[in-house]
Amino acid sequence: MKIKNRKVRLSTLLTGLVAGSVILTTVILLIASYQSEKESLTNAYLNLNYSKSSKMSRSVDSLFKSMRMSLEETATFLSENDDFKDDEIQDYFELLRNNSRYFNSLSWIDESGVVRSIAPISVGLRGEILSSGETRNIVDSKRQTVSQPYIAPSGRLIVLLAHPLYDQNNHFKGMIGGSIYLQEQNVLNEILGNDIIDENGSYYYVVGPEGKILFHPDKKRIGEDVSGNPIIGKIMQGKSGKEIVTNTKGVTMLAAYSVVPETGWGVVQQTPVTFIYESLYDHIKKLLIYILIPFVSLLALSIFIARKLAKPFFDLSNVVNQISTGKLVSIPEMKSHWNREADLLTKSVTMAIEGMQDKHQQLSYEATTDSLTNTSNRRLLDEVMKEWVTKNKPFTLIAFDIDNFKKVNDTFGHQTGDQVLQFLVKYVQMMIRKNDLLFRYGGEEFVLLIPDVSSTTAYSIAEKIRICVENNVSPTGKHITISIGIAEFPSHTKQQNKLFDLADQALYVSKSQGKNRTTIWNENL
Ligand code: GH3
Ligand code: MG
Ligand code: MG
Repeated sequence: MKIKNRKVRLSTLLTGLVAGSVILTTVILLIASYQSEKESLTNAYLNLNYSKSSKMSRSVDSLFKSMRMSLEETATFLSENDDFKDDEIQDYFELLRNNSRYFNSLSWIDESGVVRSIAPISVGLRGEILSSGETRNIVDSKRQTVSQPYIAPSGRLIVLLAHPLYDQNNHFKGMIGGSIYLQEQNVLNEILGNDIIDENGSYYYVVGPEGKILFHPDKKRIGEDVSGNPIIGKIMQGKSGKEIVTNTKGVTMLAAYSVVPETGWGVVQQTPVTFIYESLYDHIKKLLIYILIPFVSLLALSIFIARKLAKPFFDLSNVVNQISTGKLVSIPEMKSHWNREADLLTKSVTMAIEGMQDKHQQLSYEATTDSLTNTSNRRLLDEVMKEWVTKNKPFTLIAFDIDNFKKVNDTFGHQTGDQVLQFLVKYVQMMIRKNDLLFRYGGEEFVLLIPDVSSTTAYSIAEKIRICVENNVSPTGKHITISIGIAEFPSHTKQQNKLFDLADQALYVSKSQGKNRTTIWNENL
């Protein structure tokens, strides 16, 4: 009765249950925590980005107001002083540019497109005629302008702020222009700052009303058309807001955008969604570490309890196994168990085994004992002899038979005959030693096994028995006698099954020589 391995162990079952429920709870907890954390991080970054972008748009707005006013004042000043020579104006521009630092360059282009003054002089266009191109268009428009980014005659990508210039007589004298070199150090950089990518990957960029990038941490992207980006479309419609958006590079961003009213530009502040996933990952990792310690302890505890629970079952199954293989004679003491079921089982199995053993003992006693005389029977005689012969233990076999027993039965009845048999056994038991064994061979014939004794010594024992029986009054009220035959192992025979025959032969001799006597077997019988 071996426990098959593919059956589930109690400890595996319990551990599995605990692990399963903890893992399930953890997964639910993690999902819930992940979702809420994701939502709150998303909202936090959208709001943060929105407040940054609106702050920046306000800064850019007021900056442009100041720049426009500065150009306006310059135009007014020049108009009031229309007797200034070109060189004087050039000097004035140099001075102005150095003081205000709004513009990378300041210029006066007259109504026929001639660059009359430009500061710094190093730009090198002074005196040239701009016959066509964006700058010329701006001059011809005669209107106050904030241009789109375009490539200026100097070859730079610029945004031009222009203001018309009139003389005292209100004649148009061209345009005063202030340019911002988009790809160089400029006023925008100074106002908005250069460290525009922070540690969480957030950055901002500025777009013009036609969707071209004016300002970007990646300088190479300045001038690029990003009108395909859904939020740029909204900026172009003059809207501000915040949303999760996938940009033209395919990166998903938590973006907030604010329009600059003065220019129609938009400031976009955004954080890559991957940053949120990184911090979510950190969050989950921390959570897992917190869960791990109680989880492992719980698992260890459940394994411990499961082992404790399973132990009485193992012990019981061991005991039962040993009993079934016949190894176990006495039951080991089983401790009482704290688990009610295990305790009940241990107690009832122990009781059942004890009962079984009692029954077994009783049955084997009955199977080897004669019920009338309480002596061992022939079956046990065979077993004992077999054992002694196997061990080569010397012993003597004494066979005896009641003389004329038939007559006892016939005269006094079968019941008295039985009492005579019990009487005989009682006296024989009284006469023999502890190690001598008495067997009822059958009917009124008995066998005595006397260990470590020769046939001659056995003879005197037999004689004492015979005389004792003879001298006592039997239940018939008369004396009975017995005839005895003796054979010795191993000197008479070494064969177990022959030894009784030899003793029986000797017994037969005792009968034939007149009964009530003892004969030792010898070859001449
Ligand atoms: P002998 O001196 O030659 O031994 O003569 P005997 O009468 O004893 O001869 P036998 O062996 O032929 O008779 C044995 C008798 O013992 C026969 C049987 O009725 C009787 N007997 C056998 N077993 C029992 C028993 O258990 N109870 C009683 N009352 N009688 C028994
Ligand atoms: Mg007889
Ligand atoms: Mg007989």
